[in-house]
Amino acid sequence: MRKPFICGNWKMNKNVDQAKDMIEKLKAKVADVTEVEMGICPTALALTAFKEAAAGSDIVTGAQNIYWEESGAYTGEISAKMLADSEIEYTIIGHSERREIFGESDFEVNKKVHAALENGVKAIVCVGETLEERKAEKIEAKVNFQVDAALAGLSEEEIAEVVIAYEPIWAIGTGETASAEEANRVIGIIRDHIRESYPQAAEKIRIQYGGSVKPHNVEEIMAQEEIDGALVGGASLKAESFSEIILKTE
Ligand code: 13P
Repeated sequence: MRKPFICGNWKMNKNVDQAKDMIEKLKAKVADVTEVEMGICPTALALTAFKEAAAGSDIVTGAQNIYWEESGAYTGEISAKMLADSEIEYTIIGHSERREIFGESDFEVNKKVHAALENGVKAIVCVGETLEERKAEKIEAKVNFQVDAALAGLSEEEIAEVVIAYEPIWAIGTGETASAEEANRVIGIIRDHIRESYPQAAEKIRIQYGGSVKPHNVEEIMAQEEIDGALVGGASLKAESFSEIILKTE
């Protein structure tokens, strides 16, 4: 049985005080949750304050990005080792905003996944197609290519520990969601593809859906067999809506 994982991606939102304020509110609302893994990825600036404020709860903390080198002359970057030293459990890697706005390549995504796992930080790897690719019936080719590239060189045991977030780019922040059935279908395609090379990891790896997940649609999404959780943007910014998403998954 794969434990569902509901994770918030705050993107470039909330200063340190706002991050601490929200975690206090969220902790109270989800104190009794046991069947769902819960996490939030604040900005790098708020990571340690958030982590400290989350103490005593089951809410895990994630970064939104890392660089693969351990330290050195890489202005503006933070390393997986630094996250590990601060006991940050997760990092998102290869979000479509990083790929599209900051030009991150599949090669870089793979280097980051390796760096995360080597340092004991769990990776949430984002994949997904554009609207043009969807219209051209290239969904399968795109997501499988991204998955192969991200996971290249990992052992089957390592792959089993990775989280994949299937986020169709046209559904992010638009209010448009892939229908629950369609999200389930693509996530099934990804799992089948992993199964071809890594049959055991395919059963264990958690594959989330992301893209306009809200309290009103989360039940339908989470009722799908292949979907193991959600990566939530906008609706993770308020304790009310994010806790509702978690409680409806529980
Ligand atoms: P929204 O939930 O705001 O559509 O964002 C999804 C996302 O990009 C999560 O990483």
